Parts: sequence; C-alpha cells; structure tokens
Amino acid sequence: MQLQCNPAKLPAMRSVGLSTRCAQCQEWVIAPLLTEFVEGSEIRHHWVCDGCGETTRTVVQLSKD
Ligand SMILES: [Zn+2]
Repeated sequence: MQLQCNPAKLPAMRSVGLSTRCAQCQEWVIAPLLTEFVEGSEIRHHWVCDGCGETTRTVVQLSKD
C-alpha cells in the first residue's frame, strides 16, 4: 500500500481542523459537533456555541481534479 498526497487539496484539508467564532457572541467554538463528508464535493461542519447555544454550519468545498 502506498500513501498518496494531492498538494492541490491541502488548503481545503487544512481548513478542516480550524475552529470558528460564534456569529452571535463571538466566542471561539473549538470543535464541530458533527462533520459530514459529501463524497466528491464538500465537507460540512455543524457547530454549537458553548457560550450561547447558537448553531451554525460551515462548508469546505473540495476541488475537483
Ligand atoms: Zn455564541
């Protein structure tokens, strides 16, 4: 088995691990509550703020080869 790396996808892959700020109270939300992988198109992170309970979603678009 050989590991493969696609440098063109690295920016999208790096953003997967980033935290986000709550749009309501500006508190940092460290980890998503749920992450969905939509094969071939995007990654969706669902966030819940510990400070105020606000829910939000961020989407990382995956580039196509
Ligand atoms: Zn909040």
